[in-house]
Amino acid sequence: MSELPARRLLLVHAHPDDESINNGATMAKYAAEGAHVALVTCTLGEEGEVIPPDLAHLAPDREGGLGAHRIGELAAAMKHLGVTDHRFLGGPGRFRDSGMMGAEQNHRAGAFWNTDVDDAAGYLVEVIRSLRPQVLITYDPDGGYGHPDHIQAHRVAMRAAELAAEPGYRQELGEPHTIAKIYWNRVPRPVAEGAFARLHAANTDFPGIAAIDDVPGVVDESDITTEIDGTAYAAAKTAAMRAHATQIAVRGPYFALSNDLGQPIFTTEYYQLVSGAGAVAAGRREHDVFEGVGE
Ligand SMILES: [Zn+2]
Repeated sequence: MSELPARRLLLVHAHPDDESINNGATMAKYAAEGAHVALVTCTLGEEGEVIPPDLAHLAPDREGGLGAHRIGELAAAMKHLGVTDHRFLGGPGRFRDSGMMGAEQNHRAGAFWNTDVDDAAGYLVEVIRSLRPQVLITYDPDGGYGHPDHIQAHRVAMRAAELAAEPGYRQELGEPHTIAKIYWNRVPRPVAEGAFARLHAANTDFPGIAAIDDVPGVVDESDITTEIDGTAYAAAKTAAMRAHATQIAVRGPYFALSNDLGQPIFTTEYYQLVSGAGAVAAGRREHDVFEGVGE
């Protein structure tokens, strides 16, 4: 393992674009500081709605091809963030985007939502045991906002972290590894409220503005353990989001998804430490996800 950088961060996401929206500044910062930043994306996002009219033919109910197109968008986004290690769980197309909760695609063969958690976790165990990350970042049990692929990504990531540490589990996947710290993506409610107040005052030309509850992972301030100031990486994060052009329309410090409702881009990113060493004392916040971890 001597060739691995000292600090290693793994992020597990559901679709291409989630990483840039949630963690773009964190990823750019740690990559720039020499940490190994690895992204595992669980699906190609084939069911996403396409924003630009000239790419509308990629939609699954038209010619298709959105998944392959989004592989390219993700690669471009990762260039902006300086992240060279990005993979799809089980390889590109192994698990398919399940669509929104309740959609008939939820039940289609190969849909990520429809996949046995332990089967999918096996692919991630292999990644964990070879990269040996000290830190894992993923979603909360609700997937941040209830999308089936986000919920499943949470389950698979948490289960894989458990299985990777078990000496008896599939030794052919590598030496057991315990991830020191596991984080869920969060946004403190007062931060969201402040950002939306500025957005309402900003007089943008979005047809509407999203509700705070549309933002994944908004919680009370007291749940936040960790705050990563990514101000220096705001341009990288914004450029990465822009690279996901089928999914995201960026205007200044704001963006919209296919619903055309404006949202703030958060360049300070927030987390809740849920498992692992160096539990953060109440009332104190970490400013480094690697705080307290050895090599
Ligand atoms: Zn997503």
